[in-house]
Amino acid sequence: KKPIIAIDGPAGAGKSTISRKLAHELGLLYLDTGAMYRAITWLVMDKGIPLDDTHAIALEVEKATIELSPSDDLKLPVTVRVNQRDVTKEIRTPAVTKNVSHIAAQKAVRAKLVKLQQVYGKQGGIIAEGRDIGTNVFTNANLKIFLTASVNARAKRRSHDLRQQGETNIDLPQLEKDIAQRDFLDSTRELAPLQQAPDAIALNTDNLSIEEVTEKIKQFIAG
Ligand code: C5P
Repeated sequence: KKPIIAIDGPAGAGKSTISRKLAHELGLLYLDTGAMYRAITWLVMDKGIPLDDTHAIALEVEKATIELSPSDDLKLPVTVRVNQRDVTKEIRTPAVTKNVSHIAAQKAVRAKLVKLQQVYGKQGGIIAEGRDIGTNVFTNANLKIFLTASVNARAKRRSHDLRQQGETNIDLPQLEKDIAQRDFLDSTRELAPLQQAPDAIALNTDNLSIEEVTEKIKQFIAG
């Protein structure tokens, strides 16, 4: 039977890189659920809807179409379309990153996106990464991993990613603050907060390379 693998953890712990690599090596579908919350955030901002107008946001989310497809660009986790428009690059901007936690805390947004994620996972054969995959989206996943790393290590990785995406103006202390703030919002919200599932395996990636983390997870998958 095709497995479901859940990878959760705070921002910048290496979830995307690791999940994408594993999916590629194991022939599984890679599902970047953060990209979905980012796409809705982009849409809300593009429409000029205030972030706290939950009613207007709910109406917009209900009629929105979101499609994820594999990205050919190594620097971008997935190709994302919202209402037919390609927003692959737009969803990674600092402005979207700053606002996404406020959108992701809203009931209508989570209801729609969790349902969509579960459709992607219906046949199994999937590696899904996010904040609530093991605790909420796929509670019966075959393997749950909770990836962590220090705020400093995570900020450094983010700055590396941003540089790769062409950003030149990077302020590391500010990145650390932003990451800590996003983790705080994600882990203290009411609905499906960021937390380790009781049956998840925690893995700190501070002193591990991408290859080492991937190898460890492969060993867990093999049992
Ligand atoms: O992983 P990424 O940084 O792209 O996630 C962006 C944001 O989307 C997170 O900070 C969080 O607010 C939200 N998110 C979520 N649940 C998920 C995945 C992401 O609430 N499963």
